[in-house]
Amino acid sequence: MNASFLSLLASDPEIGILRGEPLFRHTTFRIGGKADVAVFPETPLAFARAVDACRRFSVPYRVIGKGSNVLFDDSGYAGAVLFTDKLIGISVDGNRITCGAGIPLKLLCHVARDNGLAGLAFAYGIPGTVGGAVYMNAGAFEGQMSDVFYEASYYDPESGEIRTVTKDGMHFGYRHSLFMENGGILLSATFLCEKGDPAEIDEEMMDHIRSRAEKQPLAEPSAGSVFRRPAGHFAGALIAEAGLSGRAIGGAKVSEKHAGFIVNTGSATAADVRGLIRVIQNEVMEKSGILLEPEIVIIDNPDRKGE
Ligand SMILES: Cc1cc2nc3c(=O)[nH]c(=O)nc-3n(C[C@H](O)[C@H](O)[C@H](O)COP(=O)(O)OP(=O)(O)OC[C@H]3O[C@@H](n4cnc5c(N)ncnc54)[C@H](O)[C@@H]3O)c2cc1C
Repeated sequence: MNASFLSLLASDPEIGILRGEPLFRHTTFRIGGKADVAVFPETPLAFARAVDACRRFSVPYRVIGKGSNVLFDDSGYAGAVLFTDKLIGISVDGNRITCGAGIPLKLLCHVARDNGLAGLAFAYGIPGTVGGAVYMNAGAFEGQMSDVFYEASYYDPESGEIRTVTKDGMHFGYRHSLFMENGGILLSATFLCEKGDPAEIDEEMMDHIRSRAEKQPLAEPSAGSVFRRPAGHFAGALIAEAGLSGRAIGGAKVSEKHAGFIVNTGSATAADVRGLIRVIQNEVMEKSGILLEPEIVIIDNPDRKGE
């Protein structure tokens, strides 16, 4: 890795770096080889400087929140993986909550509840950050991030500017946002809630947690639902109907509790997961004629282009 690039990052007092950091430590799948460098900017401006440095030295980069929707390659990532862990400010102003990209959804939901602000309970139990959830337009229980999104501050790598975007500009769709189109990096977001009763909001959150515990294999590492929901169907049901519950390749297995999940039984590699995804796609296509498209973000190693 370029020595000038590394020393530029290392000399920045608001940027922490770890060289050769194993990525399995940073993903809920517990899969992934080493990143050349893991980067932890402490402020939005430091984040912008880190991305600028990547672009200036032509170093490939990826931004990661909690790593709960990604599959890194077994060979790792020959470049910089930038983490939002340190972007964790949060404040409440009337019905609005503004927070850093690295704030876990769980904390956001707690703050909303404690301030009597309704609208975010659907997100309770989604194990990601605000940045990843807005990027994915994450959703559950009939709600999605776009329902409560008000505006965001993001870094636009093309112009090198920090910009503001409101809901209309976010191009939200099913698991889709503007940042998938323009490479924008969410730095902070504001959510607009409605007044609510903390006890009722808490009740709703607890209902969701119970429902997840009942239906999802939460004790095993996974990245949640692997596939997007095909129109008019549920991916998990199609997979179960194709007789694939429990099907395994290496350490990757289709969960018997929820066939939409692939779980890591302990020693799964990214190659195992990719292989199982292909088997599922082929067999579901054969059985139902429906193509399942991955929802999880599969990140190739720029050096090796995956498998
Ligand atoms: C047990 C389990 C249950 C789940 N349930 C749900 C569910 O009900 N609904 C649902 O939608 N998802 C669910 N997920 C998937 C996942 O939790 C969500 O997609 C979550 O929003 C991802 O957030 P993250 O911070 O982990 O993002 P990551 O996995 O770190 O990243 C996901 C994508 O977002 C991008 N990204 C991350 N941060 C930023 C940023 N600041 N700016 C721009 N891009 C960024 C990354 O580059 C990557 O492309 C589940 C996952 C698990 C493990």
